[in-house]
Order: sequence, then structure tokens, then C-alpha cells
Amino acid sequence: MKPETESDVDRDYESLIAELKGWLSGDEVGLVQRAFVFARQKHGDQKRASGAPYMIHPVQAALILVNFRLDAETYAASLLHDVLEDTDATVEELQDTFGPKVASLVESVTKLHGLNYLSREENNLENVRKILLAMAADLRVVFIKLADRLHNMRTLQYLSEDKQQRIAQETMEIYVPLAHRLGIYELKWEMEDLAFRYLNPDEYRRLAGLVAAKRAEREAFVKSTIEQIQSLLEEKGLHVQVSGRPKNLYSIHRKMVQQGKTFEEIYDLTALRVLVNTIPECYLALGYVHEAFTVVPGRVKDYISLPKPNGYQSLHTTVLGSNGEPLEVQIRTRRMHEVDEMGVAAHWKYKEGKAADLVDSERFAWLRQMVDWQRDVPSSGEFVERVKVDVFSDEVLVFTPKGDVINLPAGSTPVDFAYHIHTDVGNNLVGARVNDRIVPIDTELVTGDRVQIITSRNSGGPKADWLRFVKAASTKAHIRAYLRKKELEHEVSEKVEAAEHPHQPASHTPAPPRRGIADPGFRIVVHGDPTLPVVVAPCCNPQYPDEILGYVTRGRGVTIHRADCVNIPSLAMEPERLVEAHWEMIPRKMKERTVVIETLNVPGVLYRVSEEFAKRDINIRYMKNAEHLAVFKKKGDPGRTQIKIVAEFPNDTIYHQTMDALRGLTSVISVRQQ
Ligand code: MN
Repeated sequence: MKPETESDVDRDYESLIAELKGWLSGDEVGLVQRAFVFARQKHGDQKRASGAPYMIHPVQAALILVNFRLDAETYAASLLHDVLEDTDATVEELQDTFGPKVASLVESVTKLHGLNYLSREENNLENVRKILLAMAADLRVVFIKLADRLHNMRTLQYLSEDKQQRIAQETMEIYVPLAHRLGIYELKWEMEDLAFRYLNPDEYRRLAGLVAAKRAEREAFVKSTIEQIQSLLEEKGLHVQVSGRPKNLYSIHRKMVQQGKTFEEIYDLTALRVLVNTIPECYLALGYVHEAFTVVPGRVKDYISLPKPNGYQSLHTTVLGSNGEPLEVQIRTRRMHEVDEMGVAAHWKYKEGKAADLVDSERFAWLRQMVDWQRDVPSSGEFVERVKVDVFSDEVLVFTPKGDVINLPAGSTPVDFAYHIHTDVGNNLVGARVNDRIVPIDTELVTGDRVQIITSRNSGGPKADWLRFVKAASTKAHIRAYLRKKELEHEVSEKVEAAEHPHQPASHTPAPPRRGIADPGFRIVVHGDPTLPVVVAPCCNPQYPDEILGYVTRGRGVTIHRADCVNIPSLAMEPERLVEAHWEMIPRKMKERTVVIETLNVPGVLYRVSEEFAKRDINIRYMKNAEHLAVFKKKGDPGRTQIKIVAEFPNDTIYHQTMDALRGLTSVISVRQQ
């Protein structure tokens, strides 16, 4: 490819200005124009490694940010971002010419430069620290830095192999997680694929080839499905926009590695997007799509009523296209789409606020906290250690009800949180509320959660089975210490008791009969004690597998409520009377049943089906795989197959659970009992 020339710089600059005129005023565009003239004059005849005029870099970086519709200062600073580093321009000169805001943006971006000569480990940590601080001061710095990095990644082929590796690695370790954290997926995906290409060239080429080989076939299929959905929904009077986006190569690669799948097993190479105007229209559209297509069971996800922790909202479903191939359809409002694609920038645009507003918003609480740490922690090494783990997701930051931040290892639960606060809080824990909802105490916390621990002096202490799910090593140590102490006390008291009643044989009161539990295969265990008398609350009538909580009544034993029962908040006025409770399976005679599963005939499907049995300890007595059901099989269609399994299910609940789990498997089409 020939390097760009001065006339390419002019062409790109003109298209930048034409775009900016779409939302900036004449004066604002003027600022950007002056920045261009200044930067071009300063860079003079400097060249990029490619041999192109240097200005092609700042201009194309600014163009990358056009989709985000940011303010004039950001574009001016993008054009100027290398003048302090690479020319004789000074901060004072920038202040005099463009004002203090633009000058400080350029200065901040410059400070993020020049870190490449430290050892990689140090370099990365120091980079993280600087980026976070600059970002906290003004998020626009990060946009400029990400655009700078993306353009450098796009032109990486001109550098030495050594530099390619280092820069690609740094991009994958720092800039990709950062863009992800800020929700700027558009930049993230491209950076990620470019870094992947340099870090793992063989795998990249292989996947790119496989995707390309399927492309023509898939494109025709996707195009016809788009048209079908578009006209279907328009007929129903919805104003929709349907598009298909191929998934990025790195996400395919990650899925293959994480889920142990082959390329052929990954069907959703393309996601169809349906954009509508309002939330009710999202559900309407979902209904119409379900009416018109065969739905793959167990794949409907409602992230509108339950958004992902990072704020992502959408309805997802998987349907079978006209050739029998599954296709993921994502339905969302145009506003949700904007937030998803542009992350923080979308908030920016809508609020028309300044960096301060963004930093104040709920979503950036973690950022605020890091800045506070910077003040509290004297050594930069310690600060870096703390923030590194957060950005790279090894830890979660959660909040106390008062708003203090607690730093826990990723995967931590309310129990870890409780012990982190104080050993007594952990030892007296009977329940937990996360974001004002009562949750099971083994719930995994995510960054941003507000956690409140419900304690009781009569809690009975931590249970040995908590050791199964707690995460922090210190939590385990606390629980073990408590259990050991209890054991000793128990031994002592038994000895004392034996010396009083020397002849009395040990006897146990038989457990009283249970009332009101719908599934006889399960019983309720309160505080680890299955013999406590319990009454099921009529207000919410909990049934297995509802999450439950016990309430110690005066004289009527323990009442069991659903954890989300409307009465819990008022009962929690006396938190010492709430106790932990859960379901436990009563071992029973096995029931033999025959299950017939129709699936796509793809590699690994037998394994995944039998795994659902194995992980529930269900004994398979007989299994048969009827090859290739010929159901409108076309070229490239894997065809279908039928698997017949005779198995011993311990009880109905496990049976239904297994059936549901089978229905939820990607390649499974239907499951029935014979
Ligand atoms: Mn640059």
C-alpha cells in the first residue's frame, strides 16, 4: 500500500470538518480549524514510519472520534495531541493560542506518552496509574488517547516486529480493558482484533479464513433474514431498523477457548440488531419475531428489566433462520443502542455535561474511588497494585450502605464482605441485601453493588458449607477458626454432660412433620438444622427452588418466606429475628425415565448432553444416538440427530431441572419424555 500524501491529509481533514459542522457552531469549528493549521505548521515535514506526512495521524485520530459527537475542544486537542511531544510547541503557546482547556487536554495526553522505555511490567502499571488519574480529571483525555492508540494499531505494520509485539501487548492489556470498562465497544473491538492479529497471527489468519469462507453463504442468509424481519415488523406498524453485525474475530476466538468449542460449533457469527423507539415496542417486536420464527428454547434473555452490571440493556433471543441455522436477534431502543455502542460518550452527548458530571454519575463511582485512593495511599506502588486489579477485573469494588468502598477479590460473596467489615459481622450474619434486594448469601458481588449485611446475635455462627463458596483466604481462615473453637467447646460440654447423666443413653427427638412444602423431595434447613420446626408463610408460599429466609416468630417456630417476599423489609426491622434458610434434597428412591432429545448434529453435542446428567449425579442406564434426521437439510446445514437416554432421576425436581437445562443447550432443538 502506498503511504498517504499531503493531499490525503487535506481530504481527510475536509471530511472531518464537514462532519463536525453537523453539530458544532461556526466558532467551535473555527477552533478546530485553527488547531489543524497550528499542528500542521509545527509538524512541518515530519513523517510517520510509513513515510506518510505526520499530520495524517492526528487527523485520522480525530476522525475516529467523529461518531461520538464530542465537543470542539476534544477535536482541537486530538489534532494537537503530539505537538508537545514531537515539536517545539510549548504549553504556554497552546494556552495563549487555544485557551487553558485545550492546552491542558494536550498536556494530559502528552503525559501518557513516553512511558515505553521502562520495563514492560513497570511500564504497564505506571501507565495504568497515569491513565486513571488523567481520566478522572477529564474523561476526554481517554477518548483522545484511545483514538491515538487505535490509529497507531491500524498502522502497526510499518514498525519493527519488536515494537509491534510490545504495542499490541500493551493494547490488549491496558487499552482494550479500559475501552471495555468505559463501554466504548466500537473502539474496543477494532483494537482487540488488531492486537490479536499481531499477538497470535496464525490463529488470527485461520479464523479470518474460516469466516471469509462462510461469508458469501452467510451474507445471503443474513440479508434475507434481515429483510424478512424488517418487513414483518413494518407490517405490524413498527418503525424499525434491522441490521446484522459480524462478531469480531477475537470474541469468536475467546468463545472457542473458553467454552472449548470448535469453529463449526459457533453459530452466532452474526448478531441481528433490531432497533425500535420505545421499551414496549421492544417486547412487541420480540413477540412478533417469536410468532414468525422457530425459537430456540432457553435462549431468551431480558436485559431490559434486568440490565447487565455494566448497564447493558437489550432483549436477546435465538431463532432458527430459513435454512435451519440459529441466529441471535438483539432487540433494543435506539437510545439503548447508542449507550451500548458509545459507552460514556452517549451520556456525554445527552447530558451535554462536563467531565465532572460523568465522574459524578453512579456508573463511575469506581473511578471516583480510585482518585480518593490516590490521595490516601502514600506509595504509588500500592496505589497501582490496587487499581490494577480493578481495571483488570481481578477484584470487585462494592459499597457499604454509607457509601464506603470495600475492595474484595473477584467472585466474593456477601459473606466475604461481612468478614471484611468485622469478624463479628461475619460470625453473626443471617442474610444479605444487595442493592436493596435480599439475596442468597453465596451471590457473587459485582463492582458497584451496595451491600448490607443482616446480622443476629442468635445467628448460630458461620456454617461449614460456607467454605464452599467464600472467596477471600481471610474469610476462610475466620470461618475455620470459629468452627474449631465451637468444636472444642462442644467436646468439653459433652464431657461435662456425660459426668452428670452417666447412665442416660443419647436420644434425639424425632423431627416433627413438615407442612406446606410443595415438593416432597426437599426439606427446609434453618441454620444448618433440618430438625427445626418450620411453617411456610402464606403470604408468599415459597416452593423449591425459591430463595428463602427464616423469621423467628414468638412461640411458633420459624416462618419461611421467599427472599423477595414483600413482607421481608418490614420483618427486617428486627434483623436479629431473620435467619438463614435453604432447601435440601431428601434422598429418595430413584425413578427411571426415558428422555428423547432432538439436536443439531454438531460435534460435542453428545458430550454436552451427557454432562447435564453427570453434573447432577444422574445415572444413565442406556443411551442411543439415531443419526441424521433428514429435516430440510441443505448444504452447510449440520442436519439433526436424535438422542435417546434412559436414566435414573432421584426426584421430580431434578428431572425437571435436567429437562430445562437440556432445552437451554445451544444445539438442542427439543426435549421430551417418552
Ligand atoms: Mn499520537
